Amino acid sequence: MRIGLPKEVKQREFRVGLTPAGVQTLVHAGNTVVVEHNSGLESGFNDIDYEAAGAQLGDAADAWAADIVVKVKEPLAEEYQYFREGQIIFTYLHLAANRPLTEALISSGVTAVAYETIQLDNGSLPLLAPMSEVAGRMSVQVGSRFLEKTGGGHGVLLGGVPGVLPARVVVVGGGIVGSQAMRVAVGMGADVTVLDVNGARLREIDDQYQGRVKTLMSNSYNLQEAVRTADLVVGAVLIPGARAPKLVTRGMISEMRSGSVVVDVAVDQGGCIETANRVTTHDEPTYVVDGVVHYAVANMPGAVPRTSTFALTNATLPYVAGLAKGGIHALADDHVFLKGLNVGHGKVTCKGVAEAFNMDY
Ligand code: NAD
Repeated sequence: MRIGLPKEVKQREFRVGLTPAGVQTLVHAGNTVVVEHNSGLESGFNDIDYEAAGAQLGDAADAWAADIVVKVKEPLAEEYQYFREGQIIFTYLHLAANRPLTEALISSGVTAVAYETIQLDNGSLPLLAPMSEVAGRMSVQVGSRFLEKTGGGHGVLLGGVPGVLPARVVVVGGGIVGSQAMRVAVGMGADVTVLDVNGARLREIDDQYQGRVKTLMSNSYNLQEAVRTADLVVGAVLIPGARAPKLVTRGMISEMRSGSVVVDVAVDQGGCIETANRVTTHDEPTYVVDGVVHYAVANMPGAVPRTSTFALTNATLPYVAGLAKGGIHALADDHVFLKGLNVGHGKVTCKGVAEAFNMDY
Protein backbone atom coordinates (compact mmCIF):
# COMPACT_ATOMS: atom_id res chain seq x y z
CA MET A 1 0.00 0.00 0.00
CA ARG A 2 0.97 3.65 -0.46
CA ILE A 3 0.58 5.64 2.74
CA GLY A 4 0.67 9.44 2.67
CA LEU A 5 1.68 11.76 5.49
CA PRO A 6 0.68 15.36 4.66
CA LYS A 7 1.85 18.33 6.72
CA GLU A 8 -0.88 19.67 9.00
CA VAL A 9 -2.30 22.94 7.69
CA LYS A 10 -4.46 23.97 10.65
CA GLN A 11 -3.08 27.08 12.36
CA ARG A 12 -0.80 26.33 15.29
CA GLU A 13 -1.10 22.55 14.86
CA PHE A 14 2.43 21.30 15.39
CA ARG A 15 1.84 17.55 15.55
CA VAL A 16 2.30 15.15 12.63
CA GLY A 17 0.49 11.89 11.86
CA LEU A 18 3.46 9.49 12.19
CA THR A 19 6.92 9.52 13.77
CA PRO A 20 9.90 8.26 11.72
CA ALA A 21 9.74 5.05 13.83
CA GLY A 22 6.12 4.56 12.72
CA VAL A 23 7.12 5.14 9.10
CA GLN A 24 9.93 2.60 9.41
CA THR A 25 7.55 -0.07 10.76
CA LEU A 26 5.24 0.46 7.79
CA VAL A 27 8.11 0.45 5.27
CA HIS A 28 9.53 -2.76 6.76
CA ALA A 29 6.10 -4.34 6.27
CA GLY A 30 6.44 -3.68 2.55
CA ASN A 31 4.54 -0.39 2.22
CA THR A 32 5.59 2.84 0.53
CA VAL A 33 5.28 5.92 2.75
CA VAL A 34 5.21 9.36 1.12
CA VAL A 35 5.97 12.18 3.55
CA GLU A 36 5.29 15.81 2.65
CA HIS A 37 8.40 17.98 3.01
CA ASN A 38 8.78 19.50 6.50
CA SER A 39 5.73 17.75 7.94
CA GLY A 40 7.55 16.75 11.10
CA LEU A 41 9.61 19.89 11.68
CA GLU A 42 7.45 21.32 14.49
CA SER A 43 7.55 17.95 16.28
CA GLY A 44 11.32 17.86 15.98
CA PHE A 45 11.64 15.46 13.00
CA ASN A 46 13.57 16.54 9.89
CA ASP A 47 12.96 15.27 6.37
CA ILE A 48 16.24 13.43 6.68
CA ASP A 49 14.87 11.46 9.67
CA TYR A 50 11.95 10.28 7.55
CA GLU A 51 14.21 9.48 4.60
CA ALA A 52 16.45 7.43 6.89
CA ALA A 53 13.33 5.55 8.01
CA GLY A 54 12.64 4.64 4.38
CA ALA A 55 10.10 7.33 3.41
CA GLN A 56 9.88 9.06 0.05
CA LEU A 57 9.56 12.84 0.26
CA GLY A 58 7.10 14.83 -1.82
CA ASP A 59 4.68 17.75 -1.81
CA ALA A 60 1.14 17.84 -0.42
CA ALA A 61 -0.36 16.44 -3.63
CA ASP A 62 2.07 13.48 -3.55
CA ALA A 63 1.19 12.64 0.06
CA TRP A 64 -2.55 12.97 -0.65
CA ALA A 65 -2.27 10.78 -3.75
CA ALA A 66 -1.62 7.74 -1.51
CA ASP A 67 -4.12 4.93 -0.86
CA ILE A 68 -4.20 5.73 2.85
CA VAL A 69 -3.72 9.25 4.19
CA VAL A 70 -2.72 9.52 7.86
CA LYS A 71 -3.18 12.87 9.59
CA VAL A 72 -3.78 14.47 12.98
CA LYS A 73 -6.52 17.08 12.53
CA GLU A 74 -9.61 17.09 10.37
CA PRO A 75 -8.99 18.12 6.73
CA LEU A 76 -9.56 21.84 6.12
CA ALA A 77 -11.41 23.25 3.09
CA GLU A 78 -8.16 23.79 1.17
CA GLU A 79 -7.53 20.01 1.44
CA TYR A 80 -10.93 18.86 0.10
CA GLN A 81 -9.50 19.08 -3.45
CA TYR A 82 -7.39 15.99 -2.67
CA PHE A 83 -10.34 13.72 -1.75
CA ARG A 84 -11.05 10.97 -4.27
CA GLU A 85 -12.91 7.69 -4.50
CA GLY A 86 -11.02 4.66 -3.19
CA GLN A 87 -8.88 6.70 -0.79
CA ILE A 88 -8.86 6.02 2.96
CA ILE A 89 -8.40 8.99 5.31
CA PHE A 90 -7.48 8.16 8.90
CA THR A 91 -7.38 11.10 11.35
CA TYR A 92 -9.31 12.96 14.09
CA LEU A 93 -12.48 14.09 12.27
CA HIS A 94 -15.05 15.37 14.81
CA LEU A 95 -17.63 15.36 12.01
CA ALA A 96 -20.72 15.94 14.16
CA ALA A 97 -19.55 19.53 14.54
CA ASN A 98 -18.56 20.01 10.88
CA ARG A 99 -21.21 19.78 8.17
CA PRO A 100 -19.10 21.12 5.25
CA LEU A 101 -16.42 18.46 5.82
CA THR A 102 -19.05 15.71 6.19
CA GLU A 103 -20.61 16.72 2.87
CA ALA A 104 -17.23 16.93 1.12
CA LEU A 105 -16.34 13.42 2.32
CA ILE A 106 -19.72 12.03 1.23
CA SER A 107 -19.62 13.55 -2.25
CA SER A 108 -16.03 12.51 -2.91
CA GLY A 109 -16.57 8.81 -2.16
CA VAL A 110 -13.60 8.52 0.24
CA THR A 111 -13.54 6.15 3.19
CA ALA A 112 -13.14 8.34 6.28
CA VAL A 113 -12.09 6.69 9.53
CA ALA A 114 -12.06 8.81 12.69
CA TYR A 115 -9.62 8.23 15.54
CA GLU A 116 -12.10 9.47 18.11
CA THR A 117 -14.91 6.99 17.44
CA ILE A 118 -12.83 3.79 17.60
CA GLN A 119 -14.14 2.20 20.78
CA LEU A 120 -13.10 -0.87 22.75
CA ASP A 121 -15.72 -3.22 24.19
CA ASN A 122 -15.31 -1.65 27.65
CA GLY A 123 -16.40 1.69 26.19
CA SER A 124 -12.93 3.26 26.27
CA LEU A 125 -11.57 5.30 23.35
CA PRO A 126 -8.00 4.11 22.69
CA LEU A 127 -7.08 6.87 20.24
CA LEU A 128 -8.29 9.66 22.54
CA ALA A 129 -6.62 8.20 25.64
CA PRO A 130 -3.04 9.28 24.80
CA MET A 131 -4.12 12.92 24.45
CA SER A 132 -5.97 12.69 27.79
CA GLU A 133 -2.77 11.34 29.32
CA VAL A 134 -0.80 14.29 27.95
CA ALA A 135 -3.39 16.84 29.09
CA GLY A 136 -3.70 15.24 32.54
CA ARG A 137 0.03 15.36 33.21
CA MET A 138 0.24 18.88 31.79
CA SER A 139 -2.62 20.17 33.96
CA VAL A 140 -0.60 20.10 37.17
CA GLN A 141 2.55 21.30 35.41
CA VAL A 142 0.76 24.41 34.08
CA GLY A 143 -1.20 24.80 37.32
CA SER A 144 2.01 24.97 39.33
CA ARG A 145 3.42 27.53 36.90
CA PHE A 146 0.41 29.82 37.31
CA LEU A 147 0.48 29.42 41.11
CA GLU A 148 3.82 31.25 40.98
CA LYS A 149 3.60 34.98 41.66
CA THR A 150 4.77 35.87 38.12
CA GLY A 151 2.03 33.61 36.73
CA GLY A 152 -0.66 35.58 38.62
CA GLY A 153 -0.90 33.07 41.45
CA HIS A 154 -0.59 33.56 45.19
CA GLY A 155 2.96 32.26 45.19
CA VAL A 156 2.97 28.76 46.64
CA LEU A 157 5.24 25.88 45.77
CA LEU A 158 3.20 22.75 45.09
CA GLY A 159 5.33 20.48 47.29
CA GLY A 160 6.06 23.02 50.04
CA VAL A 161 9.44 22.51 51.75
CA PRO A 162 10.34 20.83 55.04
CA GLY A 163 8.51 22.81 57.74
CA VAL A 164 6.03 24.36 55.26
CA LEU A 165 2.78 22.69 54.20
CA PRO A 166 2.40 21.63 50.55
CA ALA A 167 -0.24 23.16 48.29
CA ARG A 168 -3.68 21.53 48.11
CA VAL A 169 -4.62 20.08 44.71
CA VAL A 170 -8.22 18.99 44.08
CA VAL A 171 -8.88 16.83 41.02
CA VAL A 172 -12.52 16.58 39.92
CA GLY A 173 -12.93 13.33 37.94
CA GLY A 174 -10.61 10.36 38.42
CA GLY A 175 -10.55 8.99 34.84
CA ILE A 176 -7.58 9.19 32.47
CA VAL A 177 -6.94 12.95 32.79
CA GLY A 178 -7.56 12.86 36.54
CA SER A 179 -5.29 9.84 37.11
CA GLN A 180 -2.39 11.48 35.31
CA ALA A 181 -3.00 14.80 37.09
CA MET A 182 -2.95 13.17 40.52
CA ARG A 183 0.16 11.19 39.61
CA VAL A 184 2.10 14.36 38.80
CA ALA A 185 0.66 16.21 41.81
CA VAL A 186 1.69 13.38 44.16
CA GLY A 187 5.11 13.28 42.51
CA MET A 188 5.55 16.99 43.19
CA GLY A 189 4.66 16.47 46.84
CA ALA A 190 1.24 18.19 46.86
CA ASP A 191 -1.65 17.36 49.19
CA VAL A 192 -4.03 15.69 46.69
CA THR A 193 -7.78 15.00 46.85
CA VAL A 194 -9.77 13.40 44.03
CA LEU A 195 -13.56 13.45 43.65
CA ASP A 196 -15.52 11.07 41.42
CA VAL A 197 -19.04 9.64 41.30
CA ASN A 198 -17.68 6.18 40.51
CA GLY A 199 -17.16 4.41 43.84
CA ALA A 200 -15.24 1.54 42.24
CA ARG A 201 -12.81 4.01 40.69
CA LEU A 202 -12.30 5.74 44.06
CA ARG A 203 -11.56 2.34 45.62
CA GLU A 204 -8.90 1.62 42.96
CA ILE A 205 -7.26 5.00 43.55
CA ASP A 206 -7.33 4.48 47.31
CA ASP A 207 -5.68 1.09 46.90
CA GLN A 208 -3.10 2.37 44.47
CA TYR A 209 -1.99 5.39 46.48
CA GLN A 210 -2.30 3.89 49.98
CA GLY A 211 -3.38 7.16 51.54
CA ARG A 212 -1.19 9.53 49.43
CA VAL A 213 -4.37 10.63 47.60
CA LYS A 214 -7.58 11.36 49.53
CA THR A 215 -10.73 10.17 47.80
CA LEU A 216 -14.12 11.85 48.11
CA MET A 217 -17.51 11.01 46.59
CA SER A 218 -18.39 13.79 44.16
CA ASN A 219 -21.45 15.77 45.24
CA SER A 220 -21.98 19.49 45.59
CA TYR A 221 -21.43 19.45 49.37
CA ASN A 222 -18.07 17.69 49.16
CA LEU A 223 -17.03 19.76 46.13
CA GLN A 224 -17.72 23.02 47.95
CA GLU A 225 -15.68 21.92 50.96
CA ALA A 226 -12.76 20.68 48.82
CA VAL A 227 -12.66 23.58 46.36
CA ARG A 228 -12.89 26.32 49.03
CA THR A 229 -9.47 25.50 50.46
CA ALA A 230 -7.74 24.28 47.27
CA ASP A 231 -4.77 26.09 45.77
CA LEU A 232 -5.22 24.26 42.45
CA VAL A 233 -8.41 22.67 41.05
CA VAL A 234 -8.19 20.43 37.98
CA GLY A 235 -11.47 19.83 36.09
CA ALA A 236 -11.29 16.33 34.54
CA VAL A 237 -14.91 15.17 34.28
CA LEU A 238 -16.42 13.44 31.27
CA ILE A 239 -19.95 12.26 30.64
CA PRO A 240 -19.54 10.39 27.32
CA GLY A 241 -21.38 12.03 24.46
CA ALA A 242 -22.63 14.95 26.58
CA ARG A 243 -21.54 18.43 27.60
CA ALA A 244 -19.61 18.47 30.84
CA PRO A 245 -21.81 19.26 33.88
CA LYS A 246 -20.98 22.54 35.66
CA LEU A 247 -19.98 20.94 38.94
CA VAL A 248 -17.79 23.71 40.36
CA THR A 249 -20.04 26.75 40.62
CA ARG A 250 -19.13 30.43 40.61
CA GLY A 251 -20.11 30.53 44.28
CA MET A 252 -17.46 27.89 45.05
CA ILE A 253 -14.85 29.73 42.99
CA SER A 254 -15.57 33.03 44.76
CA GLU A 255 -14.81 31.35 48.11
CA MET A 256 -11.29 30.33 46.96
CA ARG A 257 -8.30 32.34 48.09
CA SER A 258 -7.30 35.05 45.65
CA GLY A 259 -4.42 33.83 43.45
CA SER A 260 -5.57 30.22 43.45
CA VAL A 261 -5.67 28.48 40.07
CA VAL A 262 -8.20 26.35 38.19
CA VAL A 263 -7.26 24.27 35.13
CA ASP A 264 -10.42 23.05 33.42
CA VAL A 265 -9.21 20.30 31.11
CA ALA A 266 -12.85 19.43 30.32
CA VAL A 267 -13.28 22.82 28.64
CA ASP A 268 -13.31 21.04 25.26
CA GLN A 269 -16.66 19.56 26.33
CA GLY A 270 -17.97 22.88 27.65
CA GLY A 271 -16.07 22.79 30.96
CA CYS A 272 -16.99 21.46 34.41
CA ILE A 273 -16.12 24.72 36.16
CA GLU A 274 -18.86 27.31 35.73
CA THR A 275 -16.47 30.24 35.38
CA ALA A 276 -14.26 28.44 32.84
CA ASN A 277 -16.85 29.29 30.21
CA ARG A 278 -14.46 30.69 27.66
CA VAL A 279 -11.87 28.67 25.80
CA THR A 280 -8.37 30.14 25.88
CA THR A 281 -5.32 29.58 23.66
CA HIS A 282 -1.66 28.77 24.26
CA ASP A 283 -0.86 32.39 23.33
CA GLU A 284 -3.13 33.78 26.06
CA PRO A 285 -3.92 30.80 28.26
CA THR A 286 -5.38 32.42 31.38
CA TYR A 287 -7.89 34.97 32.64
CA VAL A 288 -8.98 35.91 36.16
CA VAL A 289 -12.47 35.59 37.70
CA ASP A 290 -13.08 36.59 41.33
CA GLY A 291 -9.31 36.65 41.88
CA VAL A 292 -8.85 33.05 40.70
CA VAL A 293 -6.58 32.37 37.70
CA HIS A 294 -8.42 30.27 35.06
CA TYR A 295 -6.59 28.13 32.47
CA ALA A 296 -8.99 26.79 29.82
CA VAL A 297 -7.00 25.70 26.76
CA ALA A 298 -8.97 23.19 24.66
CA ASN A 299 -5.95 21.69 22.86
CA MET A 300 -3.44 21.31 25.67
CA PRO A 301 -1.40 18.57 23.89
CA GLY A 302 -0.59 21.13 21.16
CA ALA A 303 1.90 22.73 23.57
CA VAL A 304 4.00 19.57 23.63
CA PRO A 305 3.78 18.39 20.00
CA ARG A 306 6.81 16.14 20.18
CA THR A 307 5.52 14.10 23.13
CA SER A 308 2.01 14.16 21.67
CA THR A 309 3.16 12.93 18.25
CA PHE A 310 5.02 10.01 19.83
CA ALA A 311 1.99 9.17 22.00
CA LEU A 312 -0.42 9.42 19.07
CA THR A 313 1.70 7.23 16.79
CA ASN A 314 2.04 4.62 19.56
CA ALA A 315 -1.75 4.36 19.63
CA THR A 316 -2.58 4.72 15.92
CA LEU A 317 0.18 2.60 14.37
CA PRO A 318 -1.44 -0.83 14.91
CA TYR A 319 -4.56 0.47 13.14
CA VAL A 320 -2.57 2.07 10.29
CA ALA A 321 -0.68 -1.22 9.90
CA GLY A 322 -4.01 -3.06 9.77
CA LEU A 323 -5.30 -0.75 7.03
CA ALA A 324 -2.04 -1.12 5.12
CA LYS A 325 -2.36 -4.90 5.25
CA GLY A 326 -6.05 -5.37 4.58
CA GLY A 327 -7.37 -2.05 3.20
CA ILE A 328 -11.03 -1.50 4.08
CA HIS A 329 -11.32 -5.21 4.95
CA ALA A 330 -9.35 -4.41 8.11
CA LEU A 331 -12.45 -2.50 9.25
CA ALA A 332 -14.94 -5.21 8.35
CA ASP A 333 -12.85 -7.81 10.21
CA ASP A 334 -12.62 -5.85 13.47
CA HIS A 335 -15.75 -4.51 15.19
CA VAL A 336 -13.64 -2.15 17.33
CA PHE A 337 -11.95 -0.60 14.29
CA LEU A 338 -15.26 -0.53 12.39
CA LYS A 339 -16.62 1.94 14.94
CA GLY A 340 -14.12 4.40 13.51
CA LEU A 341 -15.76 4.32 10.09
CA ASN A 342 -17.62 7.64 9.74
CA VAL A 343 -18.14 7.92 5.97
CA GLY A 344 -17.95 5.23 3.31
CA HIS A 345 -19.41 4.62 -0.16
CA GLY A 346 -20.86 8.12 -0.18
CA LYS A 347 -22.84 7.66 3.05
CA VAL A 348 -22.48 8.56 6.69
CA THR A 349 -21.84 5.36 8.67
CA CYS A 350 -21.64 6.79 12.19
CA LYS A 351 -24.91 7.17 14.09
CA GLY A 352 -23.86 10.29 16.03
CA VAL A 353 -22.85 12.11 12.84
CA ALA A 354 -26.02 11.08 10.98
CA GLU A 355 -28.18 12.27 13.87
CA ALA A 356 -26.32 15.59 14.10
CA PHE A 357 -27.25 16.40 10.49
CA ASN A 358 -30.49 14.45 10.14
CA MET A 359 -28.94 12.26 7.47
CA ASP A 360 -29.55 8.60 6.56
CA TYR A 361 -26.97 6.15 7.75
P1 NAD B 1 -12.62 9.66 31.44
O1 NAD B 1 -13.91 9.13 30.95
O2 NAD B 1 -11.43 8.77 31.49
O3 NAD B 1 -12.83 10.22 32.93
C1 NAD B 1 -13.91 11.02 33.30
C2 NAD B 1 -14.19 10.79 34.77
O4 NAD B 1 -15.20 11.72 35.17
C3 NAD B 1 -14.73 9.38 35.08
O5 NAD B 1 -13.93 8.73 36.06
C4 NAD B 1 -16.15 9.66 35.59
O6 NAD B 1 -16.58 8.73 36.58
C5 NAD B 1 -15.95 11.06 36.16
N1 NAD B 1 -17.19 11.77 36.44
C6 NAD B 1 -18.38 11.73 35.76
N2 NAD B 1 -19.27 12.51 36.39
C7 NAD B 1 -18.66 13.03 37.48
C8 NAD B 1 -19.07 13.90 38.52
N3 NAD B 1 -20.32 14.39 38.59
N4 NAD B 1 -18.15 14.24 39.48
C9 NAD B 1 -16.89 13.76 39.42
N5 NAD B 1 -16.46 12.93 38.48
C10 NAD B 1 -17.33 12.58 37.51
O7 NAD B 1 -12.33 10.97 30.58
P2 NAD B 1 -10.90 11.65 30.34
O8 NAD B 1 -10.23 11.00 29.18
O9 NAD B 1 -10.18 11.73 31.63
O10 NAD B 1 -11.32 13.11 29.83
C11 NAD B 1 -11.76 14.12 30.74
C12 NAD B 1 -12.02 15.41 29.95
O11 NAD B 1 -10.81 15.94 29.46
C13 NAD B 1 -12.91 15.20 28.71
O12 NAD B 1 -13.79 16.29 28.60
C14 NAD B 1 -11.91 15.24 27.57
O13 NAD B 1 -12.51 15.64 26.35
C15 NAD B 1 -10.99 16.32 28.10
N6 NAD B 1 -9.71 16.46 27.41
C16 NAD B 1 -9.30 17.74 27.18
C17 NAD B 1 -8.07 17.99 26.60
C18 NAD B 1 -7.63 19.41 26.43
O14 NAD B 1 -6.66 19.65 25.73
N7 NAD B 1 -8.27 20.37 27.08
C19 NAD B 1 -7.27 16.93 26.18
C20 NAD B 1 -7.70 15.61 26.41
C21 NAD B 1 -8.93 15.39 27.05
